[in-house]
Amino acid sequence: MNDLVIPKPDDWHLHLRDGRAMASVVGYTARSFGRALVMPNLRPPVVSVEMALAYRDRILKALGPAEQGFNPYMALYLTDNTSAQEVRRAAETPEVLAYKLYPAGATTNSDSGVTDLSRCHAALEAMQETGMVLCVHGEVTDHQVDVFDREARFIEDVLIPLRATFPGLRIVFEHVTTKEAADYVRQAEGSIAATITPQHLLFNRNSLFKGGLRPHYYCLPVLKREPHRQALLQVATSGSPRFFLGTDSAPHSKDAKEMDCGCAGCFSAPHAMALYAQVFDGLGCLDRLADFASRFGAQFYGLPVSEQTITLTRGQSTIETSLPYEDGDAQIVPLAAGEPLGWQLSL
Ligand SMILES: [Zn+2]
Repeated sequence: MNDLVIPKPDDWHLHLRDGRAMASVVGYTARSFGRALVMPNLRPPVVSVEMALAYRDRILKALGPAEQGFNPYMALYLTDNTSAQEVRRAAETPEVLAYKLYPAGATTNSDSGVTDLSRCHAALEAMQETGMVLCVHGEVTDHQVDVFDREARFIEDVLIPLRATFPGLRIVFEHVTTKEAADYVRQAEGSIAATITPQHLLFNRNSLFKGGLRPHYYCLPVLKREPHRQALLQVATSGSPRFFLGTDSAPHSKDAKEMDCGCAGCFSAPHAMALYAQVFDGLGCLDRLADFASRFGAQFYGLPVSEQTITLTRGQSTIETSLPYEDGDAQIVPLAAGEPLGWQLSL
């Protein structure tokens, strides 16, 4: 098979930034995906429906003529001060699909994040009542905990107690990276799902250190050991509707990555679908890609599967080593820069 036609996929975890940065990356996503759930970790964070709708308008205005029809959905930033009233307002706003829990200090622009979930009791209760989804960055932020263990510890210390208190809360465990997270989501009772990025399916932590320090493979949660990657491959291709596509594509300029304290995040938007196709093809599971990329996420969020399609075509190319960013004033390095790519999105 050299051509694969699937319903237009959705990216259920995406960072677009704002202003010129957003304008220089949004087209990559809009050409591959019909919808995306846009993360709220701007400065200042997107904490209200009003801010989310204004941000959404800026995104729509940045779309080029060939990118019209792309439908961004918004996630609001959960803080210690999120009110039940704001959650109810969000639940009545069709463009808002979720709240995002960042434990304070967990990743890029997360310093407004939740310091203690007990402070969010009323907001979480309102989410449970309205069916609003809570997307979680699943890592503890205690610096005593080894960075490679923070996701597994989050399950025990935060997720299980949270779900015991709010058993009806609908949760997406974002960008899972470990066997522990994959096993938990596969087996848990109730309404829970997980997104998986291309980098966590393609690479293990050796990629961070291959011949030297590789900042463009640094993201949070950080890449893990090979057995964890194998566990993610297994669940992503298992046909379980609990696992679906979320790139976590996170643009940072080349300069901001290549420095003494480089930013966390992999920019996968330009080639995300080709990379996922490569993963599924490598396992002989191309027939499962449409469920993972185009169906299961839409089902979880209660949206129809796209009636449009995309075509992925087999063919060798090499991923660019860098792309223009911020009106060409800066450069950005895509995930797997310089590596061969076995699939292309036909436009
Ligand atoms: Zn993210």
